[in-house]
Amino acid sequence: MQVENLKNTIDKLKKELGAARLIVVSKTHPPQLIQQAYEAGCRDFGENRVQELLPKYEALPKDIRWHLIGHLQRNKVKYIVSFVHLIHSVDSLALLEEINRRARQQQRIVECLLQIHIAQEESKFGFGYTEAHELITSNIWQQLPHIKVVGLMGMATFTQDSEQIRREFRQLSTFFREHTAYQQTNLCLRELSMGMSNDYPIAIEEGATMVRIGSLIFGSRS
Ligand SMILES: *Cc1c(COP(=O)(O)O)cnc(C)c1O
Repeated sequence: MQVENLKNTIDKLKKELGAARLIVVSKTHPPQLIQQAYEAGCRDFGENRVQELLPKYEALPKDIRWHLIGHLQRNKVKYIVSFVHLIHSVDSLALLEEINRRARQQQRIVECLLQIHIAQEESKFGFGYTEAHELITSNIWQQLPHIKVVGLMGMATFTQDSEQIRREFRQLSTFFREHTAYQQTNLCLRELSMGMSNDYPIAIEEGATMVRIGSLIFGSRS
């Protein structure tokens, strides 16, 4: 793909997004292509696998903000904790505790989102609403000084039914607003990460502050 085309696509997309932040999902794509998006002005990139993120982090400019958007195994946390900008996919208390432990070793505070299971599909990871409510309102927070939970993430069902997608995003957005009042030093819900190439316009209408977009920018993944 030519840099100019990529830049046009990105510029057009950014206009549509308004105040929401674009996370360019670069999984499966080589560093050269990511570099082109970087030159087109992007600084936030999302990867879903640690093994793929590490060489890209090494190869690409250091002012890139790397977002981990896929399921994260606890034994992989140590590889990314020194540089990751935001982990979107925290789906258990055990993972939160491991991030806290590794972040302490690095003397960092690592920002995270709680992933909420909003889709009908069984396969998608995340907390249920009840579980997330219990965690947010619990008194675990003072034990986790090296993490900061700054918001929520969700993935809608993969379907053509836009009304179903809207219902799922709206429910997450409502839950988000109902919980912004629960604040701790390391808990402050201000980001809502939802929307991908096929459903981001709905996500924006329903209040997303971040969208994660890959194939619309780079074409379909092989
Ligand atoms: C791959 C992926 C995306 C981007 O998907 P596209 O359809 O290519 O825009 C967004 N979020 C997560 C968690 C992903 O794994």
